[in-house]
Amino acid sequence: MLTGIYPGSFDPVHNGHLDIALRASKLFDKLIVGVYDKPKKNNKFSSNERTEMFRVATKDVDNIEVVQFTGLVTSFAREMDARIIVRGLRAGFDFETEFEMALMWRNLDPELDIICLMSSLKYQFIYSSRIKEVADLGGDISNLVPRNVFKSLSK
Ligand code: ADP
Repeated sequence: MLTGIYPGSFDPVHNGHLDIALRASKLFDKLIVGVYDKPKKNNKFSSNERTEMFRVATKDVDNIEVVQFTGLVTSFAREMDARIIVRGLRAGFDFETEFEMALMWRNLDPELDIICLMSSLKYQFIYSSRIKEVADLGGDISNLVPRNVFKSLSK
């Protein structure tokens, strides 16, 4: 069985993340979305909330499983029996970050490989940080996030 993992903070999951997850789910028998539980990271939502939001948003896709993890992505991949890590690439600075991270992951575990899916054109400009900022200021971001996330952001 070919399993891929898609790790990230997803604070919160938005339509750009979802697009990558749905496209990746068609490339693997199983796609595990790994929600990074980093205690010191300054997240708006707790890891339980971030995990639940991704779960609800992908509940209709049978081969996507959403799992929380701590520690190294490479150890998480091993634990999940996955050899391929999926990441999303927006035009611009994502490339430098993803390239450097991919080299580090492969340095830690040369049996792993990383595939990057290009962000769809309409999601190129979506960033979790900007979504949170605009939502906090009362701007309408309803077309950029799944419905359940919109409700959580509106609270
Ligand atoms: P990080 O993993 O750095 O905390 P995120 O959780 O926001 O960042 O993102 C997880 C993955 O999703 C990363 O590979 C990131 O590049 C990708 N991603 C984020 N936003 C988009 C988008 N709008 N379109 C496609 N991929 C995206």
